[in-house]
Amino acid sequence: MRHAELYEFLPSGRIRCLACARRCQIGSGQVGLCGIRQNVDGRLELLVYGRLITGHVDPIEKKPVTHYRPGSRIFSVATSGCSWLCQYCQNFDISQRRRAEGEVLSNERVVEMALQLGCQGIAYTYNEPTIYIEYSRDIGRLAHSKGLFNIFVSNGYATPETVTEMAKFLDCLTVDFKGSGKKSFVQRYIGIPDPAPIFETLLEAKRRTSIHLELTDLVVPEVGDDLAECEKLSKWVYDNLGPETPIHFLRFHPDYRMLNLPSTPVETLERHYEIAKKAGLKYVYIGNVPGHEYEDTYCAGCGYRLIDRDSYDIVSWNLTADNRCPKCGEKVPIRGGLEPGHKELRFVPVF
Ligand code: SF4
Repeated sequence: MRHAELYEFLPSGRIRCLACARRCQIGSGQVGLCGIRQNVDGRLELLVYGRLITGHVDPIEKKPVTHYRPGSRIFSVATSGCSWLCQYCQNFDISQRRRAEGEVLSNERVVEMALQLGCQGIAYTYNEPTIYIEYSRDIGRLAHSKGLFNIFVSNGYATPETVTEMAKFLDCLTVDFKGSGKKSFVQRYIGIPDPAPIFETLLEAKRRTSIHLELTDLVVPEVGDDLAECEKLSKWVYDNLGPETPIHFLRFHPDYRMLNLPSTPVETLERHYEIAKKAGLKYVYIGNVPGHEYEDTYCAGCGYRLIDRDSYDIVSWNLTADNRCPKCGEKVPIRGGLEPGHKELRFVPVF
């Protein structure tokens, strides 16, 4: 446990937490909705500081991130708790534990483990990392000093204050939309009143930082697969983040409290892909459908298949040394080249 930093005092005597867009007003002794930030004697404490509930080694493509350091080996970590209440969460066992649990690990030990495991970066993932921003920032700064990079896999439901902290250590931010961010969907299945803060976080990150941005959109059949919303989201991304922003449409699998729905039909994902391409987005992907042709990267200039993937594996890499298409010379916005050790990458649980 450690004193949190992102909060302010209210005239009512409560504390307003500023780590995520819920901005919980927390009375003495109370805990915010995430379950890990508590008002203790008039100070906000981050209960999970120094505690990780899980750690795995996996490829960066599993996040999914395809335009930042491809083929990297990542130390993926998480704390307990979350700012959202997703009814389909695949990680509900850790995200919906509204209390501080896990291995006690110093920041130095986390970074040391990442290095010993042969990783190039650390991903803060599985639960929402902005809720423990002070902890991830301190690990992340140390990681930077040892040559590692940092990734957030985030719901984007953050604040301008959190984005300021992100800018101090984050290299890559992948923001996960669900149901294309449709208001009625996020209210019903996520438990937030409005998706607007997600868009604001992306705008803040784009305007004020140099963090690499990628997006995902979980397409939930029957309740979160509205094509008009997909078009709206794609146009917003084109207008505000630019046509080169990668977006991944992910297949839903039934889990947690939404076991009644089937997996997303592949045709539905393909419709989303086509809509995003029609809106002008250059790097559109389908995820969670191993072997699908839209897992691959195609040249936006001539359509040549530049990177052939099979699930998280990079099967062939056909870019020039300076990340251009070898056929037409189009520059491909990928930060870094292919990591040499990518062929040996497999998912490895660490704790
Ligand atoms: S981080 Fe937790 S305590 Fe803070 S506003 Fe979000 S849900 Fe509330």
